[in-house]
Amino acid sequence: MKKFFAKLFGNNTEGSTTHFIKLHPAIDNGIKPTKNTFKGGLISCHCRINKVNIKLSGQTAHNHACGCSKCWKPKGALFSQVAVISRDNVEIIANAKKLIVIDETATIQRHACKDCGVHMYGRIEDTNHPFYGLDFVHTELSNEQGWSAPAFAAFVSSVIETGTDPKSMAAIRERFESLGLEAYDCLSPDLMDAIATHISKNK
Ligand SMILES: [Zn+2]
Ligand SMILES: [Zn+2]
Repeated sequence: MKKFFAKLFGNNTEGSTTHFIKLHPAIDNGIKPTKNTFKGGLISCHCRINKVNIKLSGQTAHNHACGCSKCWKPKGALFSQVAVISRDNVEIIANAKKLIVIDETATIQRHACKDCGVHMYGRIEDTNHPFYGLDFVHTELSNEQGWSAPAFAAFVSSVIETGTDPKSMAAIRERFESLGLEAYDCLSPDLMDAIATHISKNK
């Protein structure tokens, strides 16, 4: 694959220092391991005062890096880091009035803090959607450690849509692979299978 991209873009990454690529702070600075006994914790927005606080009562699942243009990314990161948790385990405990929905027409309703812009949770209201019942959250907003670790990268090619030079893609994929994260241009096979299973059951 690497050779294919190198040929396609005339970009030889052999011997390059791909560790200078900033994917996401929670990935670049060493991936923190999942704690099996982890019971959840608090996520907070970036406001200095009057933070939006949300209690996540449980461990997250399917944590991954996402290259799509919709997910919230910290400053300077190419990718977001996003996981899912049952919507029943998501409870806003402070400053709920600061939350606004970024795009009411989007499948995932991303609730963001109107002051600092951080996305606090994404919710699907369509009961027929394969992921209905799961909220999308960024566990880097928590001080606790033990959240499910990122396990793959999704929608990798989409970073081109937000301005990444196609010539950088081989190095980006190589960097993910060197960190043990498989790079996909849609979701992981597990999640794609889950979507297909849901669709076939509804037929
Ligand atoms: Zn805020
Ligand atoms: Zn995304």
